[in-house]
Amino acid sequence: AEILKVQNLSRHYTLNGTTIKALDEVTLGLEEGRILGVVGESGSGKSTLAKLVMALDRPTSGEVRLDGDNLFDLSPRQLRAARRNFQMVFQDPYSSLDPRQTVEKIIAEPLHLDPDAPKGRARRDRVGELLEDVGLSAADVSRYPHEFSGGQRQRIAIARALITKPRLLVADEATSALDLTVQKQILELILKLRAEHGISVLFITHNIGVVDEICDEVAVMQHGRLVETGPARAVLDSP
Ligand code: ADP
Ligand code: ADP
Repeated sequence: AEILKVQNLSRHYTLNGTTIKALDEVTLGLEEGRILGVVGESGSGKSTLAKLVMALDRPTSGEVRLDGDNLFDLSPRQLRAARRNFQMVFQDPYSSLDPRQTVEKIIAEPLHLDPDAPKGRARRDRVGELLEDVGLSAADVSRYPHEFSGGQRQRIAIARALITKPRLLVADEATSALDLTVQKQILELILKLRAEHGISVLFITHNIGVVDEICDEVAVMQHGRLVETGPARAVLDSP
């Protein structure tokens, strides 16, 4: 089944009387357990798409269906409940990790609206398990972000995204700021998470090479439009 369905999605901005079609009638689908790469040059509309899929912005027209529900038809309360099922990982893990908080607090943060969330010792154990899941150590719970390398911080950001057991992960240039070796390690981690938890991934990047490494399908964006979509090999080999 399709976990994500984007239907005729448009987002226009008006600047000084000129309309910019940041996103122009984009339609795409992501099957459960698959990794879909969205590639395109800077300014092609990738971030605009990511924000709409995460319901951080509203479209000019069109729909984003998660498990069949159009996000933009949900009440604030329904949206909060739906949010547990999809999480986002950004390019710069440092700016999104609060330097004054321990790793435990940072990773547990998405649970703050959940009345049934584990507390105390149970929370610490849950965060410790997640740290091991992403290749860090359970003992890291009481450390601070600045004590970690860039790649380790991205692992912390991924652990935070995983704490609500999401079924869809939206990665917006999640490996772009990392050097090649670390990039590969993070891609391997994403593949492991897919294998172990069946998590679906929308992987947004300007880097075609990365898409080749992990994506099942690829959607190519240009000037706000989807210009090509298909199996990664076929799209990458096409002229
Ligand atoms: P990408 O992520 O592929 O670099 P974006 O989605 O950030 O592309 O941007 C797509 C287009 O929309 C660009 O032309 C950009 O300048 C424009 N744009 C994005 N956000 C805004 C905004 N808040 N106001 C006006 N124009 C915007
Ligand atoms: P861009 O690629 O357009 O420069 P960014 O990747 O910096 O955009 O951010 C994309 C959007 O996500 C922005 O609107 C920003 O406010 C929002 N954002 C960035 N970090 C977080 C975060 N940790 N939690 C929620 N929203 C965030």
